[in-house]
Amino acid sequence: MPELPEVEITARRLTAAAAGATVESALAPGMVTMKTFDPPLDALAGRTLDAVGRRGKLLEVRFGDLTLLIHLMSAGRLQLWDKRSSLRDKASRLLVRLDGDRELRLREFGTQQRAWAKLLAADAVDDDPAVATLGPEAWPTLPPDVFAALIDQPRHLHPLLRDQRTIAGIGRSWVDEILWTARLSPFKQGNDLDADEVERLRVAVGERLGHALDHYEDAIGEKIPDKLPLPLEVHRHQGEPCPRCGTKLEAIHFKDYVMSYCPEEQTGGKVLKDRRLSRLLK
Ligand SMILES: [Zn+2]
Repeated sequence: MPELPEVEITARRLTAAAAGATVESALAPGMVTMKTFDPPLDALAGRTLDAVGRRGKLLEVRFGDLTLLIHLMSAGRLQLWDKRSSLRDKASRLLVRLDGDRELRLREFGTQQRAWAKLLAADAVDDDPAVATLGPEAWPTLPPDVFAALIDQPRHLHPLLRDQRTIAGIGRSWVDEILWTARLSPFKQGNDLDADEVERLRVAVGERLGHALDHYEDAIGEKIPDKLPLPLEVHRHQGEPCPRCGTKLEAIHFKDYVMSYCPEEQTGGKVLKDRRLSRLLK
């Protein structure tokens, strides 16, 4: 989180609000945020912000022949503010000051600084390793032959769907919703699916992400809130009844994330124990 739908709505709202704005200055309070130094951030001064786009879970803010490529990681937000930030705002990582006293601000919650940005020549974006290695976009829904070829790998579906090199845009929240929608075990291998299961999964990927985006179009106003209203039904809902069959949802806890699922509909009635996991996930 943020994943494809959250990053897409961010790009749409920022484009609507900030396209055509002129940059007055840019600076990076985050000590490790900028991963490039040439051209310098100062090169943005005087340029026009053309649009904000998305590549997988990455944002690209386009300024003529320069592009700011941004990865929000797990806790970042890119927001437009009407007033400039105090430099004491510890969440600020990157500030692009625009005309009219506005500011495009990359903020990150928590103490870790993991969100990053690169200022690149626009024609170099496709060759940047973070972009060049991306698989096809997970939304809109992929054609059957393309999707079937991507999924045909001897790997468990949960990590496979989150691998940006396989398919771009899905992370730890939406993968749970997608697998639940398709009624598939997170531990089923991609190359073990029959044709019907591949089709269910293909449709679930496109529909869940598309519906999330529709939800954000309705629920999110001009400004991207700090806390996004994720329409999740299963992820982190362990202990609650499955919205479809009423069985108690279960979860497996990993070091830094949770995998939630319906045992009745996804794992053949089996509740998976954490100790089984280290073996199953090898
Ligand atoms: Zn269920």
